[in-house]
Amino acid sequence: MAIIVQHIFSQERAILLGTGYGTFTGIMPSLWWGKVSPRVESGSLGVVSICDREGNIKWVRSIDVKVIEVDGKPVNEYAISKNTFSNELKSNCSACNMPLKLGISKCSHCHFEN
Ligand SMILES: [Zn+2]
Repeated sequence: MAIIVQHIFSQERAILLGTGYGTFTGIMPSLWWGKVSPRVESGSLGVVSICDREGNIKWVRSIDVKVIEVDGKPVNEYAISKNTFSNELKSNCSACNMPLKLGISKCSHCHFEN
């Protein structure tokens, strides 16, 4: 049986194969100190692997897709809650949109408590 996901903007459908967690790091030389004191930004985001009808596998951000069907049954037919886990881990600050460190809700850039 399969889990069917749908891309929120394009409405394209695909089979969900698995889930993962992606991390990134960006290093830019600072304006005054160059590579001696570079500006480093890093973060993480949830990703899922999907496949299309031809079997092509792609990784997409989990926030860009939603599950619409599990084992041939639409998700709204299951006895599950609506809008669960309101205290989920955020990957970016709500105030300045900078990446949050994993498991830390206070932004290290603007000190906003997410
Ligand atoms: Zn912030």
